[in-house]
Amino acid sequence: MQILKLQEGVIYGPIDSRRLGRSLGINLLPPTYKLCSFNCIYCQYGWTPVHTDDASEFLDDLPTTDEFQEATESWLKKDRDVNYITFSGNGEPCLHPQFDEMVEVLSKLRKKCVPQAKLAILSNSTCLNRSNVVGGLKKLDVRIMKLDCGSGETFQKVNRPHENIKYEEIVENLKNLGDIIIQSVLVDGEISNIEDEEIEKWIERLDYIKPREVQIYSIDRPSADQHLKLVGKDKLKEIAQKAERATGISVKVF
Ligand code: SF4
Repeated sequence: MQILKLQEGVIYGPIDSRRLGRSLGINLLPPTYKLCSFNCIYCQYGWTPVHTDDASEFLDDLPTTDEFQEATESWLKKDRDVNYITFSGNGEPCLHPQFDEMVEVLSKLRKKCVPQAKLAILSNSTCLNRSNVVGGLKKLDVRIMKLDCGSGETFQKVNRPHENIKYEEIVENLKNLGDIIIQSVLVDGEISNIEDEEIEKWIERLDYIKPREVQIYSIDRPSADQHLKLVGKDKLKEIAQKAERATGISVKVF
């Protein structure tokens, strides 16, 4: 198996997602490279070549709201069989400087073409200090937000954030956002986020943030760091039960 190919346009899929059913993907990021504020060791697109917390200098490579509207509308005119429309793609979707406008455009198209579909996002949680991003996120039906680690030290090793991004701020911002699903990718090997002490701290963070649900999974395809070890289903279930017992929050294994 290869590292996943980048998404070549604004629209991709629909993908039959384990979590979301038939989900149409939206890529607000460049079609030819990954642009992200993280450089996660497990990223299915490989290492991050453009590692930034500010995408404004890459505007020429990003879709405009008009391009986004055109691509999405022409897709939805020919295929309306979707359960979800999900912002994800070649990096962190909230880095797009017009993220909130994109959400507006999509909300109108949903109403017109696919009223049954829910609007969702997979985000790495790093842009929550921007009011336009928070405003856009609040208009979505489902916010699946990343929090892989229980401590800033492990966060540095697993997510390798841009230097301006601080772990404690992410935790605080996630708590303030409210009504979210936390998604955590668990990995083992030389770098691990499943050691007992780390899991205890991660559970404490979940208890503090109080998401409505937590989803955990491990890697299922080649990743940026090729020496990572998969965390088996039994171990994932054990972690899920421990977190559920401690917090009362539903923790699902995928
Ligand atoms: S946040 Fe997502 S896209 Fe960015 S490096 Fe991590 S896994 Fe890859």
